[in-house]
This record gives sequence, structure tokens and C-alpha cells, in this order.
Amino acid sequence: MPRKNRRNPGSFQPQEAPRPRSAAPEWAELPGYDVRHVGGEKEYRCPGCDHIVRAGIWHLVVIPLDAPEERRHWHTECWRKELRRIGAYRPPPPQ
Ligand SMILES: [Zn+2]
Repeated sequence: MPRKNRRNPGSFQPQEAPRPRSAAPEWAELPGYDVRHVGGEKEYRCPGCDHIVRAGIWHLVVIPLDAPEERRHWHTECWRKELRRIGAYRPPPPQ
């Protein structure tokens, strides 16, 4: 029985759709973490309030530099509270 010699198309992967992305506000930065402002197209659970971060809502994704797979999606205000809680909140300078 002839075997189909199907070639593995290789490691081609469709490119991830470009997502809107911008730098996080300065107050949101935390040493050791990559914090980004993202408008997601998926739902996530915010570890701050344990509620859903709804798709399409601009929020923050917090990525530990040494464990990028442990990224978490936070409501912007929940991340602000978290930073306050751990004493790392730097309020934005007055304009
Ligand atoms: Zn939240």
C-alpha cells in the first residue's frame, strides 16, 4: 500500500494578527516585568478582582521577564491597586 509521502509544510505558522499595542503608562511599570497596554480580542480573568477582562477592553498585560508564560491580564485600575498594595505605585507627575 503506497504511503502518502506528505511533506510536512515545515514550521510555517501564520503570523499573529497585529494587535493594537502601546507602551504602558509610566506609573504601571514594575521592575522585572514587561507591562503593556493591550486591547485584547479575547476574554481574560483579572487576578486583581477575579472578574472578566472583556474582549476589546484596553487593559494591561503584565509579563514577568523571567517567566513570560506567566503573563497576566489586569484591568488597568486593578493593576494600579495592586501596585499600591505592594508599595510600588508611582503616581504620574502633574501635567
Ligand atoms: Zn480587575
